[in-house]
Amino acid sequence: MGDAPPAAGRTGTPLILEIKGNSLDDGPGIRTVVFFKGCPLSCAWCHNPESKKVGPELSFDPRECAGCGLCIETCPRGAIDDSIEAHVDRSRCDLCFECVETCPSGALSRVGREMSVGEVAAVVEKDLPFFRTSGGGVTLSGGEPTLFMDYCSRLLARLKEMGVHTILETCGLFDADAFVRTVLPHLDAVYFDLKLYDPAEHRRWCGTGNETVLANFAELMRAGLEGGVEVLPRIPLIPGITATDENLEALAELLRGAGAERVALLEYNPLWLEKTAKVGGRNPLAGRDASDRWMERSDVERCRAAFEAFELA
Ligand code: SF4
Ligand code: SF4
Repeated sequence: MGDAPPAAGRTGTPLILEIKGNSLDDGPGIRTVVFFKGCPLSCAWCHNPESKKVGPELSFDPRECAGCGLCIETCPRGAIDDSIEAHVDRSRCDLCFECVETCPSGALSRVGREMSVGEVAAVVEKDLPFFRTSGGGVTLSGGEPTLFMDYCSRLLARLKEMGVHTILETCGLFDADAFVRTVLPHLDAVYFDLKLYDPAEHRRWCGTGNETVLANFAELMRAGLEGGVEVLPRIPLIPGITATDENLEALAELLRGAGAERVALLEYNPLWLEKTAKVGGRNPLAGRDASDRWMERSDVERCRAAFEAFELA
């Protein structure tokens, strides 16, 4: 995959992975997070691996499986095999989801459901009292919401009509002109993820170069300052990949140069490994030290110090 800026996004209705209420981790106050399906990057450590593909997927959770065998009888493609660990032979599955209808325990589920702007707004509306009392709101996340720029613009405009505080979390690979024109006016804040400073490393671990991402970050910092929209850079700390002194110092210097005063560091956690297996994915970090462990406190502090040296809180 190249680093060309994507066109102004896909038209039509995205698949929504989940609408999760009561979040305290995705902005101020109590928030409802709308997770979009599909992302133009392919980060090896993606913490929402079920959001990478644009299309629907079949998930199998072995902990929920009662071993009844109904799915084996149901599957018209003979794709379910309880003698294999993954339970589903993905090469045979054509995503008809008949097994999901049959499964009595919920072990098999469909990932991604088409939802109109009105349907998402109706779900969010129930949480308005929580937003008012906590200073919260709605965060669009993913996947990458800007893959569906027109939909984002319409959804955010609707949320603003409802008086909702809005944040969009992004991987930074989008058409900046379209974003500034159609999405930014409906946002209170942008949470902008930056992973690796070196383009070759970015290509190696995230599937594309980072030239557009870095240019978009600079452009949004400028547009955000002009328009009164907060742009918060966030950096996922991936041991031995993004969380190296060399990468963090280079990113800290870049942030200061762009006028940032704050940075959010996202601590590595290994929960994505289980989620990857559920949708039949493999672990691209298998065999690497620390990929199956939570970060040590001392390592997080070392990373934080790299930014404090550049007076980034
Ligand atoms: S989604 Fe359809 S083809 Fe795939 S395993 Fe289930 S029943 Fe079989
Ligand atoms: S139908 Fe559901 S509970 Fe029964 S064997 Fe299949 S996955 Fe397990």
